[in-house]
Amino acid sequence: MPGGKIVMRRPGHPMERFYGADSCNRAMTVRLYHSDPYASGFSATVVSTEGEWVALDRTAFYPGGGGQEADRGTLNGLAVTELKQSSGTVLHRVPGHSFAPGQEVEGKVDWDRRYELMKGHTGEHLLFSRLHELCPEMELVKIAIGPERKSVMVKGPLDWEMVLEAQRMALDAIEGDLPVTVSSVPKDDPSLADARIKMERIHGDEVRVVSIGDIDRAACAGVHISSVGELGMLLVTKFTSARPAADFEVEFEVGRAAKLTALQLSSAALRSAEALGARVQDLERALGNALREREMQAQQLRGYEEKALNELIPSRVGGVDLYSGLFGAMDKRTLLDAAARLTAEHGACVLGSAGERFMLVIACSPDVDVDCSALVNEALAPEGGKGGGKRHFATGGRRPRSGRRTSWCGPS
Ligand SMILES: [Zn+2]
Repeated sequence: MPGGKIVMRRPGHPMERFYGADSCNRAMTVRLYHSDPYASGFSATVVSTEGEWVALDRTAFYPGGGGQEADRGTLNGLAVTELKQSSGTVLHRVPGHSFAPGQEVEGKVDWDRRYELMKGHTGEHLLFSRLHELCPEMELVKIAIGPERKSVMVKGPLDWEMVLEAQRMALDAIEGDLPVTVSSVPKDDPSLADARIKMERIHGDEVRVVSIGDIDRAACAGVHISSVGELGMLLVTKFTSARPAADFEVEFEVGRAAKLTALQLSSAALRSAEALGARVQDLERALGNALREREMQAQQLRGYEEKALNELIPSRVGGVDLYSGLFGAMDKRTLLDAAARLTAEHGACVLGSAGERFMLVIACSPDVDVDCSALVNEALAPEGGKGGGKRHFATGGRRPRSGRRTSWCGPS
C-alpha cells in the first residue's frame, strides 16, 4: 500500500506555483496535497493565528471540498479538529495551541483516514464516469465522501441493470490499473469539450483536469490516488430514490471495506436462497413467489377475520350486550366501523387488532355509563401504550415489540 510518506519539500513544484499566490499577491497557503497527495508529514511556518485558528505557509491537510471531508491530524502533536479556507488560505483549528507567527511546526495528517477518503473520492470519479458513459444525460447532483459513508446523488434514468454494468466497467478499470493523472489546462482549450466540467464553477484561467486512463476526464480540485488499481475493489452497497434533491443516491464502498461487504452480502444471499429452498441464481424469483403467496394468505386472513368480526356473538354483561374480539391483521378503518355499528344501539364492544401495531377500541352506546377512554388507558398502561378519544368511543395502541407477534383470531 503506497502513501503515508513524510516529505519536507520546499515550495517550487509547478502545481505549487499555480496555487501559490493570487492576483493581489496575498500570501496563499501552498497546498502540498496537490503536488504530492501521498505526503502525510510536513514542516511549515506559522503565518498567522486567530484564536484557535492557525494559518501556515504550506500544508498537507486537505481542507475538504467536492463532497470529501476535511483531513484530521496534528500540528506539533496537537489535534487539528477542523479545517476551512478563507481567501486562498487554509486555516487549521488547533484547540489549546500557543503558536506564534514565524514559528516552525511539524504537521502530521491522519494517513489511514486520508487514504480512505482519497480512494473514496477517486472511486466516485470512476463510478460516476461509468454511469455517465452508460447514460450521457446523467447529472451529478451531490457527492458525500466520508469515513462512514460514500455516495453520489444523480439525476437521470437509472436502474439496477445500469448500476451493475457500471460496477463491472469500474472493476475492469481497477483490474487494468488505469493511471490517475492531473493536468492544468487553459479554460478555452478545445480538449475540454470531452471533459466533465461545470465552467461556472471555474475561477481563473486554468482548469485542473483529473483523468482516469483515457476513459474519463473531469475538472476537480480534490486529492486522488495515482492509479485506480489501488482501489482493489468497488462495490455499490445501496441504490435508493433521493427525491426531491435528486433522482437516485448510489452508496458505495472501496478497498477492503468493499470486499468485506461483498462477502457479507454473498453470505446473506446464499443463506436466504437456502431458506427459500432455491438456488441463489433463482433467489429473486423465489422471493417474488413467496411474497405473492404471503399477500394471498393475508387477503384470505382478512376475509376470515372480517367474517368473524361480522359474526361476533355478544356476552350479556350487566344487562348490556358486550362484543369482544381480538384479531390478527384487521385494518384500523374496518375495526372502527365495526365498533360504531356494534354500539349504535344499547351495547358495548372491546375490539383489538394485533397486527404490526397493536390497536384497541373500546366503545359503548351513549346510554351505557362507562368511561371508555379511561378503560383504554388502563388496559394499555401496563404494556406502555396509551389512548384517547371520547367517553363513549376511545382508541389506543402501542408500538410493536420485536420478536413478538400475536396471531390469535376470534372472539375473546
Ligand atoms: Zn476529484
